[in-house]
Amino acid sequence: MTQSSAPIAIGIDVGGTQTRVAAIDPNGLVRARCQRPTAELSDADRLVGWLADAAATIERETAVNPGAVPPAGIAVPGTLDSNRRTVVRSLNLPFLQGLPLADMLAKRFGRKPALLTDADAATWGEYNARRPRPGRFVHLRLGTGVACGAVIDGHVQRLDVDRRDHLDLLVADTGQSALPCPCGRRGCLETIASGPAIELAARQLIGTTNLNGIQAAWEQGHRPVTQLLEHVADALAIVLARLASHFGTRVLYLGGGVAERLPCLLELMASRLRHTGSQKPEGTPTPEPAILGDDAGVVGAGLWGMLAANGPSLPAGSDP
Ligand SMILES: [Zn+2]
Repeated sequence: MTQSSAPIAIGIDVGGTQTRVAAIDPNGLVRARCQRPTAELSDADRLVGWLADAAATIERETAVNPGAVPPAGIAVPGTLDSNRRTVVRSLNLPFLQGLPLADMLAKRFGRKPALLTDADAATWGEYNARRPRPGRFVHLRLGTGVACGAVIDGHVQRLDVDRRDHLDLLVADTGQSALPCPCGRRGCLETIASGPAIELAARQLIGTTNLNGIQAAWEQGHRPVTQLLEHVADALAIVLARLASHFGTRVLYLGGGVAERLPCLLELMASRLRHTGSQKPEGTPTPEPAILGDDAGVVGAGLWGMLAANGPSLPAGSDP
């Protein structure tokens, strides 16, 4: 198998809603792309077949030399085994569970893609997009699911190895009335601040599940919606303060579709963190918006694939 020194890598992001494939250059720029609703790819053979066809199309579009095989990285929502070969658990795409996805893709692709979690991919993409790159980069993503990632001194911290439930760091509610989470725990941030959790609560209040509609209701001062979003912001503030303390950083980056479509959350949360953080000697944890939007995962997956194929090894902390 020829590993190309072509100046692109194929990034793949199998998301809860959309599956994206893109050609990523070494600067993290998208050179070509295609995407498809994940619901249309919801069995392993269909998914792998479409990914291989999409990658081939993109390689033709970006004029990769025939015979050259650009490196690839694939991001999936869920947790992986410690060798990064198999999906251990995926709450949002259960058909991925137990699949040796990297090996299956290798057979169709003519190369073995580097497999990583969607949280790590988005974190790696967002980290690489920053100038200068922060020494401690902690990234919380709110989308169909909720997950966090961290890059410390250039090394991705592996937080989700062999796990079947959410991290302690992501439990926001330890009270008696904490909601059960599909992961098996109670009170996970996902039960409060994921897209489906907010949409379900909003539907009961204003009959819409559209995040833009929820943001608009907040802007109009709709009291029940404001109370709902304050509750979400409280939970986020608890988790962000914990992440800040755990990773020894003050600035935290917030991404994912929910954060993007409900910018009011950033404002509400910053106000809560200022209130609680002003009493702490290390200062107030400060949330910052992510900058790559929906491309974070596919960019991070491509850059990770490039690093895995071309570097002497992955950054040491990436596989602690
Ligand atoms: Zn959970």
